[in-house]
Amino acid sequence: MNIKKPQIDIETLLRTYDLDKVSIATLASHSSLQIFHGAKLEGFKTIAIVTEDRIWFYRQFNHLIDRFIVVNNWRDICKSSIAQEVRVLNGIMVPHGSYVEYLGIECAEALQVPIFGLRNLFRIEYNQWAKMEFLERAGIPIPRIYKMDEDINVPVIVKFHGAKGGRGYHVAKSRDEIAGYVRHMIERGVIRGIDEVMIQEYLVGVTAYYHYFYSPIFNRVEILGADIRYESDIDGIKRIPHRILIEMDMEPTFTVIGNIPLVLRESLLPKILEYGIKFVEESVRTLPPGIIGPFCLESVVDKDMNIRVFEFSGRIVAGTNAYIWGSPYSYLYWPEPMSMGRRIAREVKLAISASSIRKILT
Ligand code: AMP
Repeated sequence: MNIKKPQIDIETLLRTYDLDKVSIATLASHSSLQIFHGAKLEGFKTIAIVTEDRIWFYRQFNHLIDRFIVVNNWRDICKSSIAQEVRVLNGIMVPHGSYVEYLGIECAEALQVPIFGLRNLFRIEYNQWAKMEFLERAGIPIPRIYKMDEDINVPVIVKFHGAKGGRGYHVAKSRDEIAGYVRHMIERGVIRGIDEVMIQEYLVGVTAYYHYFYSPIFNRVEILGADIRYESDIDGIKRIPHRILIEMDMEPTFTVIGNIPLVLRESLLPKILEYGIKFVEESVRTLPPGIIGPFCLESVVDKDMNIRVFEFSGRIVAGTNAYIWGSPYSYLYWPEPMSMGRRIAREVKLAISASSIRKILT
């Protein structure tokens, strides 16, 4: 896949910056409170870009937010006046899990504000196929991907491009069933055609999501936590007696409701770290300078402790909100409460004091 490089000239954007007065900016949503909280602990000013309907809520946290920039619509952020307002405040944008979803890929990539993270990765994340290819090239085990015309006689999960939080996924076991479902979705206008459909082997095991931080300053990958997503109705199904469940003939959905902290068997950690390192190495190989800061591998672990990764995020995930005061892993690296939000701010601080700000921005 040809990745178009966003035309961003960071040197020029930074020319007007006073690095002694940097602010941390993000969209008021997802993990923003954690990001603001962490930025404050590290001594930064903060900027919340917020829509009108949410401002009352974020005002409850005035002590964490120095400046509100109110927009009618998230995509207004790409208006040059708003980007300019962020730059005047020496703002560094921290993209979180909702960033591309709210801004749209074009705006997310083209934002004329320095970003803490790897801009070029947004477009890969946006494309399910490119994403799975990226993981495969990295040498990270993934579920088998089926073509529409292949014989299928194992459970598979049918995913639609752009389906959010597992909504609209379908578990099936035969080619005919999948074809019928996809037809139905095209008729309903949910998707335009079969090229928006990915069929993955349905992995049997437990889900586990690993939160990593890659530090360009220390050149190391830190495991800062792990979580399980609490998903309705798939996680609720086990509360229903089997005989009733059969009668209900219900389609499980995977809508994320929240996140549950997870501590892993220590014997799994070497493999988890190895996959994190492979992810970083692949990003450096194909998308230099490579990943910066938080990323997450989303996996299923089977009974033999095999890990297979069905999804990744190149940004801070909401599961890190469970560790606003540090995690059992963060304490192994840092002697103080270190959330992912704070870790981001710490890296910015370290980069500024080492005169290496270019290493952490794209
Ligand atoms: P995703 O949108 O890819 O993060 O997936 C949403 C949810 O669907 C996950 O949290 C899992 O519960 C489930 N899921 C996704 N892919 C698979 C898979 N290949 N096998 C089993 N469950 C999956």
